[in-house]
Amino acid sequence: MTAYLREDLKNLAPYTIEQIPYTIKLDANESPFDLPKSVRSVLAEEILGGLRFNRYPDSDSYSLREKLAHTLALNTNQLMVGTGSDELLQIIINAFISKNDTVLCPYPSFGMYAIFTRIAGGVPIDVPLDEEFAYNVDRFSCYIEDYKPKIVFLCSPNNPTGNVISKKEVLQILKVYNGIVVLDEAYVEFSGTSLIRELIEYPNVIVLRTFSKAYGLAGLRVGYLAACKELTEDLYRVKPPYNISFFSQRAACIMLDHVDLVNKCVTDIISAREKMFQSFDGIDGIKPYPSKANFILAKFKDAISVYDKLLQNGVLVRNFQNNHLLRDCLRITAGEKHENDYLISLLKKIMSEVLV
Ligand code: PMP
Repeated sequence: MTAYLREDLKNLAPYTIEQIPYTIKLDANESPFDLPKSVRSVLAEEILGGLRFNRYPDSDSYSLREKLAHTLALNTNQLMVGTGSDELLQIIINAFISKNDTVLCPYPSFGMYAIFTRIAGGVPIDVPLDEEFAYNVDRFSCYIEDYKPKIVFLCSPNNPTGNVISKKEVLQILKVYNGIVVLDEAYVEFSGTSLIRELIEYPNVIVLRTFSKAYGLAGLRVGYLAACKELTEDLYRVKPPYNISFFSQRAACIMLDHVDLVNKCVTDIISAREKMFQSFDGIDGIKPYPSKANFILAKFKDAISVYDKLLQNGVLVRNFQNNHLLRDCLRITAGEKHENDYLISLLKKIMSEVLV
């Protein structure tokens, strides 16, 4: 660390993603399904047929926003596209958070809410979820009263717990709070109920979505947000120009022309998730939590030794060694059928050995 680094960032750990060798990758909530052949050939034709790599891309992803607006029945001026929803999280926080402003983050949830808040000089405050990870709206209301936050983050389905917050509960929060509410719907396609249409009517709500999960475009980094026109205009003051590559914009547009293929993947992932839940539930020593996302959080007596044994057999899942609430848990993404079948048979074997 050098003396140049801001004093308040000196104890901020870098977000490192370790490169761990694996055969089956079930650790990052990606889609197991790669781009369909039909989408690849359209993209390949465009590359060969004149995509101009020497020019900057459309700075504000207008064509993609038009397509999204059409798909979601919104206006283009209610939408912004970002380099993954990660970039949009940072844009939102940079627009609204000054030094020492407080931000409420559900806990446990997606770690970037707190990290981006700290980078902006704000103070993240964890709002613990209930024992079984349900949102506790009364607790949110108390924290709102006590901490007077500038932003309240909600994540539904929540990563890494998989539970959702109901519309009624979100509306309860909106009744007592008129600061910025960000509802992160990164996994919403797997839950079947988005609140984007209802919440767009609120002057203080931003809904975040991504192409990284259900749409299988994690490698191309495309996310978007929806908010009322005025709030979206505020956010454009902070957005870097040309943030989405031409190629990523085109790939996302083409995926929106193939929503039928996306829906098929989503259906397959949902049934894989349900099958995983049933199977985990039937294995002694594993407690899976019900999930509406593309992953399952499960509790083990000795999560780290299960993690190690899975990895010895080539299966990479997510552990939470550094999180006191989740130390006993692993998060396992639904993969392709043969991957899930292998994982389940492996877990049966590992757990029978652990319990002996
Ligand atoms: N929100 C949640 C809840 C996530 O789990 C993730 C990624 N895992 C993101 C946002 C960021 O996704 P991306 O930047 O790929 O859109």
